[in-house]
Amino acid sequence: MSLEFRHIAHAYGEVAALHDIAFTAPTGEITCLLGSSGCGKSTLLNLAAGLLPVQQGSILVDGELMAEAGVNPPPEARPVGLVFQDGALFPHMTIAANIGFGLAPAERGLVGGWLQQVGLTGLGERYPHELSGGQQQRAALARAMAPGPGVLLMDEPFASVDIVLRRRLRRDCRMLLRERGATTVLVTHDPEEALDIGDRIAVMEAGRIVQFGTPEDLHERPVAASVGAIFRGAQVIKGAREGDALRTAFGLWPATSLADDAPDTDELDLLIYAEQVACVPDVKGLSVRDVHSIGSVTRVLLVNDAGEEITAQTTVPVDRDARYVPVPQSGSARAFARI
Ligand code: ADP
Ligand code: MG
Repeated sequence: MSLEFRHIAHAYGEVAALHDIAFTAPTGEITCLLGSSGCGKSTLLNLAAGLLPVQQGSILVDGELMAEAGVNPPPEARPVGLVFQDGALFPHMTIAANIGFGLAPAERGLVGGWLQQVGLTGLGERYPHELSGGQQQRAALARAMAPGPGVLLMDEPFASVDIVLRRRLRRDCRMLLRERGATTVLVTHDPEEALDIGDRIAVMEAGRIVQFGTPEDLHERPVAASVGAIFRGAQVIKGAREGDALRTAFGLWPATSLADDAPDTDELDLLIYAEQVACVPDVKGLSVRDVHSIGSVTRVLLVNDAGEEITAQTTVPVDRDARYVPVPQSGSARAFARI
């Protein structure tokens, strides 16, 4: 089942929270809504879930209208399952009863299978407060998936679980979702999580989708420096054209360091990955703040007098007490007009 947003806008009183949201979460895929706190992720998810009435635009399931202004069926009348950050299990019901909640009486026999699927075999008779946070999230996942909803909506489902467990839960969850072919929209503010679990990522900023695409699209063809900046080792550096060079906080760079598609504007945001910046010793260079070896290469964190940092990469030994200048590889820095 696909889930499509068409020109959705939303305001809380005078405060506009969403502007012209339009994208489709494809059938059987995991779509991550990625953005910083307050950018509107939960608002969008709640509109799809039926927890908020649609004010403007429409939401379609498999191409058929599900909700629009004046048409807002309640959550239970929608083909959606919901998982929240804190699990939100019914506290007075056992884990088995929680998982069986959305099932017809004849299907209650499936609960044992779900307990096994999410690694909670033998814990069905416990109450939510008798499980760890991670176990509660597993139970919440099983409860949402058991009725076989067409679309699963998850709002920061792993945020309250510690990092090691979170990675495992994420992996298990991804495998389970793939196995079931569940269409999923998962909200997260963590780029690592979005890259780890998302088939597609909708990058949100201030109530808008800045870019919607596969992780590869975002990496190879980011529409803004802020999109590329979600990847490990990415850095965004300000540059201003000055003749045939770029004035940056780290000295003058030749304009030839820019990729081909650089806009013709004077003020630029440069997106550059650590592996695209070399460094060479120079007494007038920057000081070394940190040296970190990853396999055969060494990452060097350089800092200027104003405390601004840039990461470079080298294969030769680094002298922590020496000074270095960063040298971007020719044609490597992707440039965007500064907005
Ligand atoms: P996110 O989930 O990305 O952190 P939200 O969708 O919760 O963001 O919020 C988006 C914006 O709408 C924020 O500026 C938030 O303060 C505002 N907002 C959210 N819920 C309400 C509400 N019930 N009343 C007023 N403003 C709200
Ligand atoms: Mg939120």
